[in-house]
Amino acid sequence: MSTEKTAAEALLPTYARFPLALVKGEGSWLWDDQGKKYLDFMSGIAVTNLGHAPARIKEALNKQLDELWHVSNLFQIPNQQEAGKLITDNSCGDAVFFCNSGAEANEAAIKLARRYQQLVKQNGRFEIITFEQSFHGRTLATLTATGQAKVKEGFAPLPGGFKTIPLNDYAVLESAISDQTAAVMLELVQAEGGIHPVDADYLNKLAALCKKEGILLIVDEIQTGMGRTGKLFAHEHYGIEPDIFTLAKGLGSGFPVGAMVAKEELREGFSAGSHGSTFGGTPIATAVVKATIETMVEENIPANAAKQGDYLMGQLREKLAGNSFVEEVRGLGLLVGIACKAPVGDIVVKAQNEGLLIITAGPNVLRLLPNLLVTNDEIDTAVQILVKLIDEAAAQ
Ligand code: PLP
Repeated sequence: MSTEKTAAEALLPTYARFPLALVKGEGSWLWDDQGKKYLDFMSGIAVTNLGHAPARIKEALNKQLDELWHVSNLFQIPNQQEAGKLITDNSCGDAVFFCNSGAEANEAAIKLARRYQQLVKQNGRFEIITFEQSFHGRTLATLTATGQAKVKEGFAPLPGGFKTIPLNDYAVLESAISDQTAAVMLELVQAEGGIHPVDADYLNKLAALCKKEGILLIVDEIQTGMGRTGKLFAHEHYGIEPDIFTLAKGLGSGFPVGAMVAKEELREGFSAGSHGSTFGGTPIATAVVKATIETMVEENIPANAAKQGDYLMGQLREKLAGNSFVEEVRGLGLLVGIACKAPVGDIVVKAQNEGLLIITAGPNVLRLLPNLLVTNDEIDTAVQILVKLIDEAAAQ
């Protein structure tokens, strides 16, 4: 028998958890186990993009729960095929691999890029170039790809074949690539790293360079995808077509699922047995993906995110203009950051006390991630609380 412990002590201490237990959610609202109500401006970190318990997704999930939960990927899975087709019909991608999380989607992308270069192109390329302040996940390969020292601490030796360079510096990129470079991987708005949108000119030059040199372009859309930035996928803003892009978070509206989406040429990079996942794309997960994408497309949800993002950022910029604590309000669609001049952790806690849930993106940036159906009234409520707390911080 193990030693006596509380229920909380039964978990490894991998998260700095707030002393709140949220037990019910509906739309933009959450309730804790004491019955207190919160306006949710973090959406489980960009997951519940359609709000909590969206009716259409719940209906699809309940229907599938009555029919079939799991079968092996050794069989045809119609939901998986139909979910894949919905992704490819609504993007520049041609073939999908389903997995269970963002890190796994990026892991699959790294593997496909290397295998395609090495087995199809037969050029021996292996190196993946990534960017400072990026975040790509917590597996050994994806934390190595991540451009933040804190996620790597204590995990040596890290896998080889990754190079991290500063973003938005084309000369550095040009000198970083070599005949060993298999792929460049990036987020179009660095989210965990502080809400830094990539420079559009730089991105277009990067994409052209990749094409010219036979380097694959991998776009991590795990946080930016599924309507969050005002387009179904953020790369649509820039007129580029990645060779591979990765999805998770909003893809399942709260049900855990990830996907890697590749261009047609890369299909032959994988063959039967070269990659797989027991749970990747189960009938349940992909019923949810289907309902999520159908809702996003039919109800034009990304356009609403663009509109409400403009309203949210407009209100914040107007009401925080001249505030000495604030450096900048920045973002794309409903991926919004308030960059401040000092750490903002205490503002997150004070906002909770006022009934508003937000998170940080690095020490000095408040990150706002409401669901994509958020109303003007809800935005006004959040802005009012935030402006009050930020004014107080400025006065200290
Ligand atoms: N990539 C990006 C851009 C992310 O924001 C995240 C999670 O925050 C991941 C990858 C990792 O996703 P997951 O936590 O589902 O493994």
